[in-house]
Amino acid sequence: METIRVENLSVAYRGKVALQQIDLELSAGKLTGIVGPNGAGKSTLMKGILQLIKTQSGKIFYGEQPLNDHRKKIAYVEQRQDIDLSFPIDVFGVVLFGTYPHLKMFQRPGKKEKSFAAVCLEKVGLSDFADRQISELSGGQLQRVFIARALAQQAEWILLDEPFAGIDATSEKIIIELLKELRDEGKSIVIVHHDLHKVTDYFDEVILLNKGLIASGPVAQTYTTKNMEKTYGSEITQMLRMGGAGFAT
Ligand code: ADP
Ligand code: MG
Repeated sequence: METIRVENLSVAYRGKVALQQIDLELSAGKLTGIVGPNGAGKSTLMKGILQLIKTQSGKIFYGEQPLNDHRKKIAYVEQRQDIDLSFPIDVFGVVLFGTYPHLKMFQRPGKKEKSFAAVCLEKVGLSDFADRQISELSGGQLQRVFIARALAQQAEWILLDEPFAGIDATSEKIIIELLKELRDEGKSIVIVHHDLHKVTDYFDEVILLNKGLIASGPVAQTYTTKNMEKTYGSEITQMLRMGGAGFAT
């Protein structure tokens, strides 16, 4: 298990700063939340870590080595709005696709890959949906299919961008329980998250972001009223107190 380390990551879109000099270490074996207001750069941080976008500066390490040399060990589930659901592929096909990084060039998935894909689908409780087109799934089922794909990839890290956006409370509960189980089995999970009320229930560690890094670390030390004011501005505190956001201190 290796940590992911971000060194001096800056991103700008057409000259407009989205992320400013982020230094950060993501702990392995934890469930980590990336939290911040709309437009804070949360998705940009994930894409920057995976080097899917052009960056102004920054180095990303997996342990002591460049992360790009270990890309297979990191699975990424992008925001649902960015996923092309019109692509005709069934659930089993999506999960099987996860085994591809481990196949040699020109090799096709065989018995071994297929049975492993079936095991991964079973793990997320969707064996009965193997033949469904992905366009026919609920948002929650879709997230679970992508988690199964990450397992088929044998990823050590699973990065999910707003997996709970637009899904019902029951599905959200199924997914967070699944992710906690995977964390307990040794996976490292990172989630871009919006709903402040769940932060203390869901995460071991939290990263507070608003273009710059506000704070990061274990929830009890990091998810404090003071840090949340720095992240969202002072009016948030009163608003959340009424709703009971449950800051650590
Ligand atoms: P978050 O995920 O926290 O809501 P994003 O990382 O998506 O924030 O975006 C950070 C900022 O960068 C926002 O102001 C957004 O409008 C801008 N941005 C994001 N992606 C692009 C893009 N492809 N082109 C131009 N601006 C972008
Ligand atoms: Mg986003």
